[in-house]
Amino acid sequence: MIYTSKSFLLHRNCFKLLQRYSNRLSSTDRTKGDEPTPSKVGANTQNPISRTMKLLGNDMKNLKEFLLPSQQEKDSTDSYLERYRREDFQNHCDVLVIGGGGVGSSIAYWLKKRARSGLNVVVVEKDSTYQEASTCLSVGGLRQQFSIVENIQLSLYGAEFMRNIKQHLGEEVDINFTPYGYLMLASEQGAEQLQENSKLQNLLGAKNEILTAKRLKERFPWMNTDGIELGCHGLEKEGWFDPWALLSGFRKQAISFGAHYVDAEVVGFEFRQQSDILVEGLSPGEYEGLDKAYVKLKNGEIRDIKFAIAIIAAGAQSGKVAKMARIGAGKGILTVPLPVEPRKRYVYVYQCENDRGPGINTPLTIDPTGTYFRRDGLGGNYLGGKSPPPEEEPSVDNLDVDHAFFDSHVWPNLARLVPSFEAIKVKSAWAGYYEFNTFDENGIVGPHPYYNNLYIATGFSGHGIQQTPAIGRAISEMIIDGDFRTIDLKRFGFDRILVDQPLYEANIV
Ligand SMILES: Cc1cc2nc3c(=O)[nH]c(=O)nc-3n(C[C@H](O)[C@H](O)[C@H](O)COP(=O)(O)OP(=O)(O)OC[C@H]3O[C@@H](n4cnc5c(N)ncnc54)[C@H](O)[C@@H]3O)c2cc1C
Repeated sequence: MIYTSKSFLLHRNCFKLLQRYSNRLSSTDRTKGDEPTPSKVGANTQNPISRTMKLLGNDMKNLKEFLLPSQQEKDSTDSYLERYRREDFQNHCDVLVIGGGGVGSSIAYWLKKRARSGLNVVVVEKDSTYQEASTCLSVGGLRQQFSIVENIQLSLYGAEFMRNIKQHLGEEVDINFTPYGYLMLASEQGAEQLQENSKLQNLLGAKNEILTAKRLKERFPWMNTDGIELGCHGLEKEGWFDPWALLSGFRKQAISFGAHYVDAEVVGFEFRQQSDILVEGLSPGEYEGLDKAYVKLKNGEIRDIKFAIAIIAAGAQSGKVAKMARIGAGKGILTVPLPVEPRKRYVYVYQCENDRGPGINTPLTIDPTGTYFRRDGLGGNYLGGKSPPPEEEPSVDNLDVDHAFFDSHVWPNLARLVPSFEAIKVKSAWAGYYEFNTFDENGIVGPHPYYNNLYIATGFSGHGIQQTPAIGRAISEMIIDGDFRTIDLKRFGFDRILVDQPLYEANIV
């Protein structure tokens, strides 16, 4: 119904515009003192070429006046658009996705790809420019060099999806995938774990090789291997890509399949008592489910959206959104918060001043301290960074960059590993927020154990953008099929937090 009335309004409006256009054309003619004789009117209205030539014959001022609407017309068009937006507003939906970044948009894409008109999907995104979204400030790396089975599987699917991206997101999508392996280095202390991880990764379908310090030196002569015991070098399915292009592709395709994006911020929830639902620890009739989300529009207006299912995919703000749903602020299971908060991470872009920096065939290299670098384009630039030690976490009030952090924590490690990096100059830098899971730095994916209509997909802590294709698919399976069908992500559920069983990933950067 909504589509019908919307397209009717659009057509009606187009018709009015055309009418106005044609009226103005004839009135412009008349002001020139040119009486509209039947033959001239006929020439103007019947022959499109004569009409166009006539139009081009006018001076530019007339042309501008002709094409641009008058103030009065503009006001009525603006109010039409405002009315149109209001009419388009979905005040109820089947699935409400909170956050339209990489994760939320992938979820919307997968749900709509599979269910099409069977599910009305609304994505609420508070900033359609994505200025502070982690997705757009990420480095866009894809690797299978993880220690947890699920992380390896999620990233293997990420690689497969990106290989076939045009089939998924359309011919015009170009994520600029740069296929280079990662190179994870280990000291004597981490060597055994590196080998074990590599075995598991290869068993699951990744392709990488273990190199001794001697082989590393032969393969990568720019490297100082003092203190390095082994390296794991990715040979396939790894690299980096443009995360903004991936997000835009998901968003565009989700919209083309019928998803609705609402430019608004979720600011609260409405709860509804449901006496038919019994929950351990609550007396019968005490359960209150989630019913509606309150959203604040750009003009400050607060509206509500009723939903059957909601998904928290609000990145670094997910803990805050969960709290609005009483997660961490209620009774029983609801005393346990969603442990996701913003943590600021810096990325520095630098140039090697002596022109002797590592060449084109340089992998994304991570040293045993977690300091990483890779080439950035073909102009001799590199980018890199390092997570700060826990006791030195910077304030998350803004995204200002601390340049002293590069000098004190990043550069010394870079220069130790790559002696030619003794002479580097930082050209630019940026900061972004990890959606940091303080419990175990891994994704939290799946249903919330208390609410029967709330799902969570967040907390990826620095390795989430490469997992967006698989996470969107996984959530669509949960909602449409009732369970995970391709990659079993049960261990990534919220339950592990309730029972205090962290799932530690050894390869966090
Ligand atoms: C510096 C840096 C480097 C990174 N490098 C990599 C990498 O190499 N590889 C990798 O895989 N990952 C990397 N990541 C991590 C990756 O970027 C994230 O895991 C991923 O982008 C998370 O996507 P998201 O959609 O959950 O979050 P976001 O992209 O932040 O999207 C969440 C959205 O929710 C919206 N939102 C928040 N609150 C509300 C609300 N109340 N109402 C409505 N909307 C709301 C926000 O505006 C935002 O657009 C990096 C991150 C950073 C910061």
